[in-house]
Amino acid sequence: MLSIVSTPIGNLGDMTLRAIETLKKCDGIICEDTRVTGQLLKHLGIEKKELISFHGNTDPGKADFVIHELQKGRHLALVSDAGTPGISDPGYVVVSRATEAGIAIEVIPGASAFLAALSGSGLPINQFIYLGFLPLKKGRKTLIESFKNEERTIVFYESVHRIERTLMEIADVLKDQPNRPVVIARELTKMHEEFVRTTVGGLATVASTITKKGEFVVVIGTR
Ligand code: SAM
Repeated sequence: MLSIVSTPIGNLGDMTLRAIETLKKCDGIICEDTRVTGQLLKHLGIEKKELISFHGNTDPGKADFVIHELQKGRHLALVSDAGTPGISDPGYVVVSRATEAGIAIEVIPGASAFLAALSGSGLPINQFIYLGFLPLKKGRKTLIESFKNEERTIVFYESVHRIERTLMEIADVLKDQPNRPVVIARELTKMHEEFVRTTVGGLATVASTITKKGEFVVVIGTR
């Protein structure tokens, strides 16, 4: 059995009771960085749990190993460094291989940064499009151009290294839609959580003044 377990995106209080219970009772935990998951387990008082590190497609032999362990009847939990496994992290490879192999799975839902950002954005979120991280080169320009005609709220992840450049690019490409709302959610659930609410017209200023620390989610409303 494979349990897909969401973990907090910053605030350790966001661990659900089912998630704690599952991590306690499983035989081992598949994770990205054993140090990150080790810290979480320490906080939860869970000791002596086998940790299996898994980094996605770069690690095909490890996927075979994990599937073999599951086929032997072991109960493994899958976590990522933060949030919901598979959302812009390597977890989906394990889930995809496990379902192909007919392994029973269960989900223990919880935090995900894009959902937290959307729910605090104040923008219409009955329909939205989640883009993960924007491509760095190929297709980037075309994708940002497509925002012009997107009729749903757009949400994507950005790193501290690229947030300024990305916001500047959006300000430029969407300059004919200056009133379009944009919300940048930074450090969600953490001590310095902030929602910066602006418009395309104000984006260039925000790009240069926003605190360049931590983790970011960008939400763009419709025209
Ligand atoms: N699996 C995770 C989830 O469910 O949200 C996402 C993993 S992805 C590798 C990491 C990205 O998620 C970060 O670069 C950032 O864009 C976003 N992120 C994660 N935690 C965040 C937080 N506390 N505040 C804002 N963004 C966050």
